[in-house]
Amino acid sequence: MVKFEEIIKDVAKFVAAKAGEIDKNNEMDRSIIKKLFDKMLMGTLTPEQYGGLGKGYVEASMLAEELGKVSGGIAHSVVVHNMVVDAFRRFGNDEQKRKYLKKLTSEHLGAIAITEPTGGSDVASAIKLKAERRGDSYVLNGVKTLITNSTLAEIFIVVGRTGESAKGLTAFIVERSDGIEIVKLNPSGMRGSGLGTVRFRDVEVPVQNILVGEGKGMRVALGTLAPNRVPFAAMGLGIAENCLEMAINRAKKREAFGQRIADFQAIQFMLAELATDIESTRSLIYRAAEIANTDDVTVLAAMCKLKSAEVAKKAADLVVEIHGGYGIIAGTPADRAYRDAKIIDIAEGTSEMMKLIISRSILV
Ligand SMILES: Cc1cc2nc3c(=O)[nH]c(=O)nc-3n(C[C@H](O)[C@H](O)[C@H](O)COP(=O)(O)OP(=O)(O)OC[C@H]3O[C@@H](n4cnc5c(N)ncnc54)[C@H](O)[C@@H]3O)c2cc1C
Repeated sequence: MVKFEEIIKDVAKFVAAKAGEIDKNNEMDRSIIKKLFDKMLMGTLTPEQYGGLGKGYVEASMLAEELGKVSGGIAHSVVVHNMVVDAFRRFGNDEQKRKYLKKLTSEHLGAIAITEPTGGSDVASAIKLKAERRGDSYVLNGVKTLITNSTLAEIFIVVGRTGESAKGLTAFIVERSDGIEIVKLNPSGMRGSGLGTVRFRDVEVPVQNILVGEGKGMRVALGTLAPNRVPFAAMGLGIAENCLEMAINRAKKREAFGQRIADFQAIQFMLAELATDIESTRSLIYRAAEIANTDDVTVLAAMCKLKSAEVAKKAADLVVEIHGGYGIIAGTPADRAYRDAKIIDIAEGTSEMMKLIISRSILV
């Protein structure tokens, strides 16, 4: 049997060949998505009884790291898809798992829609999408924005408002239908991840498509986001590792003042510091990933995401620096990494929100 590590390396090679084109066009690549499904990677976290690989957060992180090295857009798409799978794994009932996990593992892309134009950090008050009960259904009306995978997703987890305050939020499983309109966004980084604004117009959702229960939307959202910040952080680690490799290669080839720039101590020290940051971030991430399989990792995962954003941005800055003037030419791998790295700071909760989670835990 081919090892998981070999499969992800093989798929990453396939993605690498198309990464520049994906970034240029900001289009989700259907051949890559098909390959990811064919290789079962979209079911990394799906339990075996529902047709998946039945793996945990360590493998989900390895996958995110390897894809992060070659394409931020594809890596983010896969991280979000696996997060949707994880929401079903954690919060779905037997019937919901039977109905949706097989599809999410074999052919249907998933998206999770929490953020609205009114805000993404303070979701408890920002969520306005109205979910109104009518008989055995809820009718959804409202707008979600900055939703990864939305341009091609078939299955959405949507957090809507069924009442007042944080207790008035409910998570719904919503299948793509006529009442859902998607407008593609044009992000600077993580391009080709299907980022879009999603408008819901009188979308009817049966009562049995509520995850956990009415008023439990916050629990589903936070409970899904928290552990999945570990693979998300691994994606940032992958971006940083790729930057370090590019920087080393350039430093060994480029000459100035009659020697390789790698022979200047200033350059050597920058690379040494970055290599150390990467190594310590990797240790943190894989320790958290191991723990996430059995325990709550909300705080550790916030630390992983915070650290990953710092190291990805530092690495991207350094690789542009080491390329000198060529570093700012649009569309080069260094430029792409620079744009992708910033998103590690923002998506799935900003670095400020991560600091809030961490500080609250130590100031009890
Ligand atoms: C590429 C990308 C993909 C995304 N994919 C998804 C997705 O699939 N699904 C989804 O639901 N969302 C998604 N998002 C949205 C993302 O989760 C939000 O952008 C993020 O949570 C921040 O929300 P906001 O953009 O509304 O910023 P705001 O909440 O408006 O924050 C603006 C600034 O204020 C700061 N701030 C806010 N409150 C505080 C505070 N209490 N203390 C200190 N600083 C504070 C923030 O840190 C930030 O710097 C994605 C975003 C990006 C960029």
